[in-house]
Formats: sequence, structure tokens, C-alpha cells
Amino acid sequence: MSKIVIDEARCKGCGLCTIACPRKLVTLSDVPNSLGYTVAIFSEAEKCTGCALCAEMCPDVAIMVFKEPQP
Ligand code: SF4
Ligand code: SF4
Repeated sequence: MSKIVIDEARCKGCGLCTIACPRKLVTLSDVPNSLGYTVAIFSEAEKCTGCALCAEMCPDVAIMVFKEPQP
């Protein structure tokens, strides 16, 4: 299964990744973190294709993509 990992320390909550994901698997938290940012949250990991569009869009390089190898 492909997945992403979001580095909350780098995320500024800009929301660009939420727009970029064609499957709408990334959303912004409702609750600000200790720095006051509503950081990105990854959900429904089983639907992630590993396309990396979210990571390519992130200006803060906060998203790592782990793509499942194709058979
Ligand atoms: S890798 Fe692709 S499918 Fe997975 S969360 Fe990012 S944009 Fe969405
Ligand atoms: S694009 Fe990057 S900085 Fe912006 S909300 Fe997503 S993970 Fe955070």
C-alpha cells in the first residue's frame, strides 16, 4: 500500500496539498498545533496511489511519499 508521511514540523498549513490530491486524502486539521498552524492530515491511506502530486505541490517539502512497488 502506498502512503505519505507529513512532517508536522515543516507544515505551515497552506492547504496546497489538499487541493492537489486527486483522491482528497489530505485535509487540514481543525485544531492549530503549538505554532498555530492547522497542519495537513492524511487519511484513508488504503486509497493512496503514491502519485506524489501532494508532495510536488508542497512548498515546504513536508510530505514524503512511499509508493508501493508495482508487480
Ligand atoms: S500520493 Fe497522490 S493519492 Fe496519495 S495522498 Fe498524495 S496526492 Fe493523494
Ligand atoms: S502543502 Fe505542505 S505546507 Fe502546505 S498544508 Fe500541505 S503539507 Fe502543509
